[in-house]
Amino acid sequence: MPSMETSGTALDADWPGACRAAATALRGILRDAPRTRERAVETGQRGEGGDRTLVIDRCAEDAVFAQLDLLHAAGHRFTAVSEERGEVGYGGGPVRVVIDPIDGSLNAKRLMSPVALSIAVADGPTMADVAFGFVHDFGTGEEWTATRGGGAFLDGVALDPALPERRGRSGKLELLGVEVADPRWIAASIDALQQQTERVRVLGAISITICQVAAARLDAMVSLRRCRAVDAAAAQLIVREAGGHVAFPLCPGGPLSAPLDVEPHSHIVCARSPETLAALAAIGT
Ligand SMILES: [Mg+2]
Repeated sequence: MPSMETSGTALDADWPGACRAAATALRGILRDAPRTRERAVETGQRGEGGDRTLVIDRCAEDAVFAQLDLLHAAGHRFTAVSEERGEVGYGGGPVRVVIDPIDGSLNAKRLMSPVALSIAVADGPTMADVAFGFVHDFGTGEEWTATRGGGAFLDGVALDPALPERRGRSGKLELLGVEVADPRWIAASIDALQQQTERVRVLGAISITICQVAAARLDAMVSLRRCRAVDAAAAQLIVREAGGHVAFPLCPGGPLSAPLDVEPHSHIVCARSPETLAALAAIGT
């Protein structure tokens, strides 16, 4: 019988187990809504992040919070920060659990991949404080995880932190991931993109695009506009533990000072080298 006395540190609960249970529940929710007709149904409300909430977003969030309820009942204290509900107290303390129940809602609605569950556990208020990251890709079935100081893993196999970026004959990056790819922001960024990369990929789920940099499938990624912590918190630890580099360039307190709340504070840049990180930081605004 585990003690009810918990230390209040980020990693004293079975977060991997809770995340996997939530992913299993979400797989069922998606399976039970097999067509766009079901997946496009809106709740009529907007989430804390401002997007129109889909019924599948709401159901997915309920499934994650069911796991949080169990951990809280077992004596763990934390604050949840989620895309639709915003901040929810589970007894306070320094631990923050940052959740995007469905990253890639538009993909989910249109039966496309990737669609992901993203959960980060932190022992403080910023990206630098994230101690555990979990991203499940429902398209590939891949599970990306990392613990602070303990490395990053893809389906349980350690990612190689020495993987380099690749450059084409032009000297530019071979493949750059782009998110928040509204055509207006693409237009505003097009010259900088052309200078930096030979090709772009727009996957439509920020957490999954960041994870591709962790495995060096993408050489780097950038969001063209501000993203929210719920989208990026887990994956940014995964890419850093996999030897990559991350910055939220508009946050004045340093590259990882972005707060773990529901507001969009900065674009995100991820790269395999500090030089590329610096070169890409000015693309998003
Ligand atoms: Mg979402």
